[in-house]
Amino acid sequence: MAVQPAADRPVIDLRFELDEDGRTVTGTEKVRFTPDLTTDELVFRLTANQPLSVAAGSGIEIGDVTGDDVAAVDFEPAGAAEATQGGLLVVRLEGDLRPGQSTEVGIEFQLRLGLGTFDRFGHDAQTSWWGSGHPLLAWEPGHGWHREPLLETLGETATSPAAQTTLSVLVPAGRTVLMTGGATAVEADDRLTLWRSTTPAARDVSVAVGDFTLAEEIVGQTRLIVGASPQQAGPLLDQVRVALVALEEYLGPFPFDTLSVARLDDYGGGIEYPAMILLAGGGDVVITHEIAHMWFYGMVGDNQAGDPWLDEAFATYAEGLVTGPPEDPAQALAEPLDVGLPIGEFPSTEAYLDTVYGKGSAMLDLARSESGPELFDAALRCYLNANAWRIAKPTDVEAALRELPAALAVLREAGALPG
Ligand SMILES: [Zn+2]
Repeated sequence: MAVQPAADRPVIDLRFELDEDGRTVTGTEKVRFTPDLTTDELVFRLTANQPLSVAAGSGIEIGDVTGDDVAAVDFEPAGAAEATQGGLLVVRLEGDLRPGQSTEVGIEFQLRLGLGTFDRFGHDAQTSWWGSGHPLLAWEPGHGWHREPLLETLGETATSPAAQTTLSVLVPAGRTVLMTGGATAVEADDRLTLWRSTTPAARDVSVAVGDFTLAEEIVGQTRLIVGASPQQAGPLLDQVRVALVALEEYLGPFPFDTLSVARLDDYGGGIEYPAMILLAGGGDVVITHEIAHMWFYGMVGDNQAGDPWLDEAFATYAEGLVTGPPEDPAQALAEPLDVGLPIGEFPSTEAYLDTVYGKGSAMLDLARSESGPELFDAALRCYLNANAWRIAKPTDVEAALRELPAALAVLREAGALPG
């Protein structure tokens, strides 16, 4: 990895155990947290308690929370389904934790995986999968805790720091695991198999457990691991390789040592996680889009609720560089709403997609042609390097493009940056 993540980033050790039923995950999370601002609490996002996920049978329940500095445990609703503990877990500390001081907290939890739909959590006859399945540390360095509600939308709404992450997943013997960081079977008996991975900087993780046929290959500095049906695995590996190599031409080296892609049944598209993609349908365009997210969200994080264009407009734009530009850019640019709106301010999913993905990617395309592709590509590489493993803001895009006034004018006109 070219740019090193912050030395004081969180250290997270996650352990998941999948029950024989394929739908119950028992977990423990150990977090070592070192803030850069004084705080007296730790806030975790309980994504699985979002109402749509709970309606599909998913959900998370917190058990014991331990740590030398833990004073009390609270929950805040934050838009979660009513039958759950809440959308945010708040661990109150005995006193202030000052910048540079560390604390360690252990959390036990149980995750339920509902029937398979296009969601981060699910199970079907072949496969069990979960992403953001653990209490997600909601800290932004330089800002503090994020308490944005769990919105009833398919879009991501979390903000989380890149963390040194170790994953252990214990599954019934005979099942194969794909996950953030790759997966290696380290211990097995006749009943259970333990799979492990480590990732130097991951702001979230996902796991898929199933009856996968694996196809693997080293491409450049990256180990690609694809899990699918016996017929799909080889062709899917080819698609992933082609997309990754093409994106590296524009964006620079792939940000992770591994990329795992788990082919689920067709539920409607792909869901990106650091170094891992849950692929539930779609062809080259979807694969290219999700791989582009490894740079825009995986490496350069953002507030996905407040500034969704920083990951979705850029991923759609990068996808278009590889798979072809939008059909009618003029029509996309004529969409009335501002590209820079928070996810909660769009009146409908369609308006969100048309504006952030459609208009946003057409805007970046136009900015590229107006300022000259080489200069724009170089500025974008600088943006990626300057913000690697951080949480970027629109002002970081503005700073990266400051030598390209034509590009800035396009972004202002489209409402991505203030006029
Ligand atoms: Zn996307």
